[in-house]
Amino acid sequence: MSETGLMMRSLASELGRRRSRMVRLLGEFVRAESPSHVKPALDHLARRVAAEWRTRGASVRLLEQKTRGNHVRAEIPGRRGGQILVLGHMDTVYPLGTLEKMPFRISGGRAWGPGTFDMKAGLVLALFAIDVLGWVGRRPQKRLVFFWNSDEEIDSDSSRALIEREAKGSDAVLVLEPPLGAEGRLKTGRKGVGTAEIIVTGRAAHAGLDPQTGINAVHELALETTRLVKLNDPRRGITVQVTMVSGGTASNVVPESARALVDLRIAKLADRARLERKLESLRPILKGAQLEVRGGINRPPLERSPGVVELFGRAQALMRDLGVSIQECFAGGGSDGNFTAALGIPTLDGLGAVGDGAHSPREHVVVSSLPERAALIAGLLLTV
Ligand SMILES: [Zn+2]
Repeated sequence: MSETGLMMRSLASELGRRRSRMVRLLGEFVRAESPSHVKPALDHLARRVAAEWRTRGASVRLLEQKTRGNHVRAEIPGRRGGQILVLGHMDTVYPLGTLEKMPFRISGGRAWGPGTFDMKAGLVLALFAIDVLGWVGRRPQKRLVFFWNSDEEIDSDSSRALIEREAKGSDAVLVLEPPLGAEGRLKTGRKGVGTAEIIVTGRAAHAGLDPQTGINAVHELALETTRLVKLNDPRRGITVQVTMVSGGTASNVVPESARALVDLRIAKLADRARLERKLESLRPILKGAQLEVRGGINRPPLERSPGVVELFGRAQALMRDLGVSIQECFAGGGSDGNFTAALGIPTLDGLGAVGDGAHSPREHVVVSSLPERAALIAGLLLTV
């Protein structure tokens, strides 16, 4: 067996013996509920996560935020030059009190609870990846920077610039977001995502007495919608979905205003400008109607670049050493990996624990996957 093969075996077996410790820490993190909008709860979890990193000898900084939860940055020095950035988030989509209906529990070989899969298990895997390097007496060549933000589920407004700055100084980015499917497929591509808002202004009138003096904003919005539908191009991975509409005040009033939210997704960065131009060039169809288009692509796509493919190949080889075959996939949703990939930094996503049911009452991770996935992360930290 190759040297890396032996190393992967020893990482996995050391971790396998501490599986119940991994589950216990996951339980502690899950019980610290952390909805994206509740700063005190997020700050509490951030302090808890920071404390774990301090016990592992990392230099840790809490990046204080005014309204959002604080972010955590932990750094482990390397023996030589270079840097690997590991990304993940501490926030979840679940409101406070969800634990009462959805307690953290182990059953059927799975750990259930809000945020287990997306992605508190990822926080645990990173900590144990560092632990196992210590247990087997290995030190990373490169400096390791772990960045855990508190607002990933709500667009990463307060963390995006910080993440991009860390990424610019890194050779590679590993994202511990959930993988896909029972085999834990890694994500080598993600769509770029954004939202557009279409605001139509018409003129109110009595729908029965003098409709001709009105300008029907809902009709205008419907006509614009048929244009928006034509922007879909499944072959190129472009989707444009009108997802929310509102308008009008009463059934006998020609509506003065109407509004739509439009979900935008692209697979290729090159399509961003084209799509945004098409949106901006929408013009009113009904005489006298006014049209305003806001927004656009917020997260650029994570494209499957040669650097991404190389990282995936490395992960695949490390897992092969453990006798596990691991595949890649393309995700329709975005993550913070989209930001780092768009800067040209090779980014491998979906390195979290195997599981299912993100953002739902069925959310869980497969307990037996925890040691293996932590070994994969540790292996990448040593060899990238
Ligand atoms: Zn996530």
